[in-house]
Amino acid sequence: MKTVKSPFKFKGGVHPDYNKELARDKAIEKLPLPAELVVSMSQHLGAPAKCLVKPGDFVRRGQVVGEKNGFISVCVRAPADGKVKAVEKRLGPAGGKADAVILDTTAKEEGNGERASILPPLDWKTATREELLKRVEEAGICGMGGAGFPTSVKLNPPPGKRCEYLILNGAECEPYLTADFRVMLERADRIRLGVEIMRKILGQPAVRIAIEANKPEAIDAMGKAFADIDGNVEIVVLPVLYPQGSEKHQIFATVGRVVPEPPALPIDVGCVVENVGTVAAIADAVELGEPLLERVTTVSGDAVVEPKNILAPSGTKYADLVAFCGGEKEPPAKVISGGTMMGFAVSTLEIGTTKTTSGLLLLSRKKVFQYASGACINCGRCLRACPMNLNPALISKAVDANDIKAAEDASVMDCIECGACSFGCPAYRTITQSCRRAKNSIRARIAAEKAKAQAAVEKK
Ligand code: SF4
Ligand code: SF4
Repeated sequence: MKTVKSPFKFKGGVHPDYNKELARDKAIEKLPLPAELVVSMSQHLGAPAKCLVKPGDFVRRGQVVGEKNGFISVCVRAPADGKVKAVEKRLGPAGGKADAVILDTTAKEEGNGERASILPPLDWKTATREELLKRVEEAGICGMGGAGFPTSVKLNPPPGKRCEYLILNGAECEPYLTADFRVMLERADRIRLGVEIMRKILGQPAVRIAIEANKPEAIDAMGKAFADIDGNVEIVVLPVLYPQGSEKHQIFATVGRVVPEPPALPIDVGCVVENVGTVAAIADAVELGEPLLERVTTVSGDAVVEPKNILAPSGTKYADLVAFCGGEKEPPAKVISGGTMMGFAVSTLEIGTTKTTSGLLLLSRKKVFQYASGACINCGRCLRACPMNLNPALISKAVDANDIKAAEDASVMDCIECGACSFGCPAYRTITQSCRRAKNSIRARIAAEKAKAQAAVEKK
């Protein structure tokens, strides 16, 4: 296996302060089981899971409490034994509300206890491709790097499409976050096994392990774990440049292929990209029969007593994560779900983590830049920073004027919401929020048009 430097550099990108030193040397610690979990039915991209339990029910760890509800959807399993206190709408990490099961983990039904495994362990060498795919689906695995796309769908390309490159995303380019870094250091053997399983499912594609150059320990750990692997496997060392972890940009930086505009997908250029944590989760689901019930989340920032990388069950309230870090050093001026570039500011710590919660940041007033958004001075900096070749200034002005059509004409739907445009804007314009607003408005319009067309068909 070789380690090579990426010869490809995408257009745009920025260099934010990474601040990873706060948590990068903190080994993963397991959180004691919280007394209450807030288990969302919407932990993934696509249709939320359909809740199967009601208040008063006792559930067992690993039991399906939300069933997959469509092609782009995944099931939700109980992260612990407990009693359902309520099923109600709760705020999620991105600010929207979704149905959640509120689980009292202190209430146990008589006879409940530890189980050896939730699903029967599978021998990946003798299991068929279909059995392995089914396992990924029933384990409730979705991409853990951010978007939460259902993994079993990604690993099953449509007829006529073939995966030539399986790319492992170990870039973790978001400031402060070190969860993937620690998984590469501490769970390298699981990542290796996950790759073997995924290669079997995908028909033995070449493998590229993409890691930014500022993580030499992770490059070393992956090098050792994959040293004796057969086949076309390489570690590709990427330049440090945000958003290197974006799927499209990583494909270009790693294998030099360009994913066309939506609705084209990575598989259209022969690529499947998976986050390193997801790959380790696949190994656990197959070999140990362990569904995706917990994940590593980085809790960091200068307003938390001790930044940590914490292994916690899905549904852990932010307040419990912060308490495990020794609490707040001072009242945070800003709390962010995720990283500082693509994360969402939240107003409460009563939110439960999901399968995609990579980070929780508590920032003091010193770190939170206070500004008033001004008029665009046409400096062009956002155009140079945009890795999607968009005109962010034009889009933000269109949204200011409530002209969503103009934003759509300027290809706002191609925006990956990376935040690179807002990062360097000297007028402190909230360009990324404008893009999000326009995209939400366009999606709502398309959904309304579809519903109207469907109603017309049903009326006939
Ligand atoms: S317009 Fe979108 S894709 Fe371009 S820099 Fe801004 S957030 Fe990123
Ligand atoms: S960076 Fe800000 S001020 Fe400069 S062109 Fe873009 S929106 Fe205008």
